[in-house]
Amino acid sequence: MIKFLDLHKLNKPFEAQFLAKTKAFLDNGWYILGDEVKQFETSFASFSKAKHCIGVGNGLDALVLILKAHIQLGNLQKGDEVIVPANTYIASVLAILQADLIPVLVEPNIETFNIDPNLFEEKITSKTKAILVVHLYGQLAEMDKINAICASHNLLVIEDAAQAHGLTFNGNHTRAFSFYPGKNLGALGDGGAITTNDDALAEILFSLRNYGSNKKYHNDFIGVNSRLDELQAAFLNIKLPHLNTENEARKKIAKRYLSEIKNNKIQLPVCNNFNDHVFHLFVIRTENRDKLQEYLYKNGIETVIHYPIPPHKQKALQEFNHLSLPITEKIHQEVLSLPMSSVLSDEEITHIIATLNSY
Ligand SMILES: *Cc1c(COP(=O)(O)O)cnc(C)c1O
Repeated sequence: MIKFLDLHKLNKPFEAQFLAKTKAFLDNGWYILGDEVKQFETSFASFSKAKHCIGVGNGLDALVLILKAHIQLGNLQKGDEVIVPANTYIASVLAILQADLIPVLVEPNIETFNIDPNLFEEKITSKTKAILVVHLYGQLAEMDKINAICASHNLLVIEDAAQAHGLTFNGNHTRAFSFYPGKNLGALGDGGAITTNDDALAEILFSLRNYGSNKKYHNDFIGVNSRLDELQAAFLNIKLPHLNTENEARKKIAKRYLSEIKNNKIQLPVCNNFNDHVFHLFVIRTENRDKLQEYLYKNGIETVIHYPIPPHKQKALQEFNHLSLPITEKIHQEVLSLPMSSVLSDEEITHIIATLNSY
């Protein structure tokens, strides 16, 4: 069976280093916000060409804290509307709700799966104050158009980059990252980070993640406990130097999938520019998705659906259940993610392609 994502195999080459770091961690005895977190924040800021990096507990908290920091700064207020793609992972929508803001769901482009700049401008009202752009599946959203529209309407641009580690970004925005194990840069547990060039925002974020305190037992804000774990930071310090290699391997596989999969029952994703995609996921569409998934499984290929139910149809979001978002709903009915990571062999890719072509 070709696994959708073999995390054990992916992390195996780092095992000796993980063990050595764990021993050093045990010998050192400093468990929270220590040197490993500081080193990761410095390295990831530099890797991301950002002025600041703030390590947090996970990707969802990274998003919530960015929004809450903007509220502290007076850039956003409770009840403001935030535009967000309707087909995103639910975390983007939950973050907006958890910050007491109102998500406005916008349809994506069905070929790139990213927010459609031609469809969101009409959703802007006097209450709209920000957009949460998601670089879904690892592909850069159409930032030039988005930035221009947002500048003309005075909207804050915030980016959910939880699937887009290593992408060359475009614009001077604050970004949220997740280091959930399956992401392109994955920890061995939960982790997240925020990158920003905004000094005032960074100062508030360093405090908000740690009980609203920059000085022990002095609390300036109603913060949360969402610190990047010291041991996860140690593991991430080992893996970060290999992120570009991982992304290059993914790109190579994507190029093969795009040029060699030939079956008119299968729609391939549109990649406008290979420099603007880190292929967190390779997502195809087909009308009878469950049948294709079963066929692949019978042929030894494991696939996953990202995602089976859109946020506005989830039980948790009942106030959105009445919305009709036909593009988003079609996407959720048709998408299927093929195996994608650096540990797949050429033979496995060949088998996946041949199996798809004879479906
Ligand atoms: C993974 C993910 C998140 C949340 O990250 P966690 O670390 O799991 O909290 C947010 N947004 C998107 C688009 C994601 O894929």
